[in-house]
Amino acid sequence: MNPRNGEPSFRQSVDLMFTRAAALMDLPPGLEEKIRVCNSTYTVRFGVRLRGEIHTFTGYRSVHSEHTEPVKGGIRYALSVNQDEVEALAALMTYKCALVEAPFGGSKGGLCIDPRQWDQDEIEKITRRFAYELIKRDLIHPAQNVPAPDMGTGEREMAIIADQYARMNTTDINARACVTGKPIHAGGIQGRVEATGRGVQYALQEFFRHPEDVAKAGLSGTLDGKRVIVQGLGNVGYHAALFLSTEDGCQVTHVIEHDGGLSNPDGLDIVALRDWIVTHGGVRDCPLGTYHENGAKLLEEDCDILIPAAMEGVINMHNAAAIKASLIIEAANGPVTAGADEILRHKGTVIIPDLYANAGGVTVSYFEWVKNLSHIRFGRMQRRQEEARHQLIVDELERISRDSSINWTLSPGFKEKYLRGAGELELVRSGLDDTMRAAYQSMREVWWTHDKVTDLRTAAFLVSIDRVAKSYTAKGI
Ligand code: NAD
Repeated sequence: MNPRNGEPSFRQSVDLMFTRAAALMDLPPGLEEKIRVCNSTYTVRFGVRLRGEIHTFTGYRSVHSEHTEPVKGGIRYALSVNQDEVEALAALMTYKCALVEAPFGGSKGGLCIDPRQWDQDEIEKITRRFAYELIKRDLIHPAQNVPAPDMGTGEREMAIIADQYARMNTTDINARACVTGKPIHAGGIQGRVEATGRGVQYALQEFFRHPEDVAKAGLSGTLDGKRVIVQGLGNVGYHAALFLSTEDGCQVTHVIEHDGGLSNPDGLDIVALRDWIVTHGGVRDCPLGTYHENGAKLLEEDCDILIPAAMEGVINMHNAAAIKASLIIEAANGPVTAGADEILRHKGTVIIPDLYANAGGVTVSYFEWVKNLSHIRFGRMQRRQEEARHQLIVDELERISRDSSINWTLSPGFKEKYLRGAGELELVRSGLDDTMRAAYQSMREVWWTHDKVTDLRTAAFLVSIDRVAKSYTAKGI
């Protein structure tokens, strides 16, 4: 229990959600506990000489489940990082990977640091040292433990980790597969940076393909015109807000950041707002909308879809009853506490849970890992052959049109679009869309058919736990 607010800790919250679902299953004795508990957490304290003195940093790498290896999960840089949080996030990774059928166990890492306090060179020194500590214990390894970006980290840190691993394992031909979320020039994959936000978009698109599900949330129609509140315009929140507003016709009416919130009833210009935040460090004084000092209060504003995309615990027992959104999609990990989840469930709010909603990141990370192990870019072998086959059909259609009396032409733009073979980005988007649709179907089936399941989170846990349980059983555990 968190003594400050009477809520369970983040890890306890995840455990409560797990236990609620497991109670509806018929697991062999002992297996439920085996799946729920975190296998191990390694804590490291290391010193780095910076600005003329030695600074000691504390970091963690937690392995929740090794039912499938490698284990996978991001590395977070934030001052609030602690063992409870890392273990909660590692557990979520186990369930998330099982739900989207990414062949990984769950892991997570974190470093207690405010990345904004250090310059690029200093971050490189700190990251190299942290990576060194993890690599020498095989807690970063292409076959055993593969990190990725999370809050406060991105492509740059992943490239440093990959380079550090390669320096320490000079003969490992699969060295690049030791971490995902790398820049393209360092073995990354097209579409990884946007992947989690893109996955949030695909998840909502799939939800809105089912009018009965949409009706459960008290909504109707399509995404077009839906009013959206986004908390956290970082990697995940920015891409989700960008795609929903520019491709699906949503209006992002409120954005909440660490220093307050911004509102505009006509919809905020997401690209311009992100530029402002990058330049000014926050939303204060931004002329694109009305500034609100108490950003968190904006979570309670009227909207159709609420997207918490910043951090855990922001929707809790203190504000859950005041949340007006009838549809919440958890782009962040753990934004709704177990206590708030119960309040919202009773209110009839539909929550698209984190273990599904933000799985786009690990899905594309999986593609990157496969790319690194196969040492070839997706589409490289097929693209031109596919184009040549399409060209054959177009040539034949044009010949028939010429040789017969029928006078028809292909619509403008068709030829160009149809002839273009799929490159890596198209294939990644296709694989991600397919994954998000399939995972939603598996959750939805349980949601609609299990008489004791009334929410998507429990449905998602049931699907995941069942898959992990089968994997343990197959190993004889
Ligand atoms: P990020 O660091 O890129 O962005 C986080 C954003 O939230 C920043 O803009 C920050 O200023 C803002 N923020 C911080 N404190 C806030 C507060 N109190 N109120 C409002 N905004 C605040 O991080 P990210 O990678 O976008 O991750 C966000 C969430 O998504 C985390 O929960 C993370 O675990 C989860 N997630 C990330 C990925 C990924 O691929 N990056 C994948 C899955 C899940």
